[in-house]
Amino acid sequence: RAKNDGRGRFRLFTEEMDDVLRQRHEIERDLRAALRADDQLEVVFQPIYDASGALVGAEALTRWPRAPHGAVSPDVFIGVAEECGLIHALGAWVLETACRAAVRTGLPKLAVNVSPIQLRGEGFAAEVLRILSDTGLAPQRLELELTEHFHLDPGQNTRRNLHDLRMAGISIALDDFATGQSLLQYVRDYEIDMIKIDRSFVGRLGQGDGTDEVVRAMLDLGRAMGLEVTAEGVETAHQREILLSMGCRIFQGFLLGRPMDGNRLASLTDDRSGQPLTA
Ligand code: C2E
Ligand code: MG
Ligand code: MG
Ligand code: MG
Repeated sequence: RAKNDGRGRFRLFTEEMDDVLRQRHEIERDLRAALRADDQLEVVFQPIYDASGALVGAEALTRWPRAPHGAVSPDVFIGVAEECGLIHALGAWVLETACRAAVRTGLPKLAVNVSPIQLRGEGFAAEVLRILSDTGLAPQRLELELTEHFHLDPGQNTRRNLHDLRMAGISIALDDFATGQSLLQYVRDYEIDMIKIDRSFVGRLGQGDGTDEVVRAMLDLGRAMGLEVTAEGVETAHQREILLSMGCRIFQGFLLGRPMDGNRLASLTDDRSGQPLTA
């Protein structure tokens, strides 16, 4: 009996593994086709505000509606793209599409997420500069966000790319700050201009569980190192109040604005008078 049960469970397990592999494979195949078709992926923009409520920029976020199956989360398709090498083509497409929108809408600053795999590519910095010159976006208006979710590789190419990008006037932000490992080491070892406090911290502010103290320490660290600090995932006015009282000056989250398409972004940049704090 017991033996039988064991085998049965094993068979179930391998079937599930097959399912997962098949799904990844299908996602890879469809993502490749979507990139080639050029009209199936979208870039949306989430506004970023300063303490006075003025729009200071927006973060580009990629969307894949994947009709007729239904939307795939970027956490899933970016991971697949990283594994199968599509991230280079996908990343270049996102950057170019977002830069064009930033120029068209007069966005003060554009933030674009970059995978550590892209950064490892030998010609990455040159490609970014080529896209800037093709689209006409000044390097000072571009910020690249690096996630620390998996180890930034300390290889030559990564360092050289980061250096070349910063020398050209592009700024570098460390995304999802404090969710990865060795974050203090990254801040020390890399040329970074900004950190973005991960929303898992922001979401637990004001609950008396020690999160407030940790966030305060991150803001102090940022100040001590001369870095800008953005709070991500601000969902309530209470969270924003707490962050303001701790000296945080840059905010992003559903409280201030959801990711939106380029046309809505254009209406935001038209009105720079600042309409703070509306959901
Ligand atoms: P991220 O760069 O940290 O982006 C912020 C994520 O938090 C976005 O999720 C955004 O929609 C979500 N968010 C913003 N404000 C709030 C809030 O107040 N509450 C909550 N609950 N969520 C909020 P999204 O668009 O699903 O993207 C997930 C992640 O996928 C991104 O995290 C980024 O790491 C990655 N990603 C998205 N687009 C790209 C891309 O074009 N290239 C690369 N390499 N990664 C991307
Ligand atoms: Mg980001
Ligand atoms: Mg983040
Ligand atoms: Mg994230």
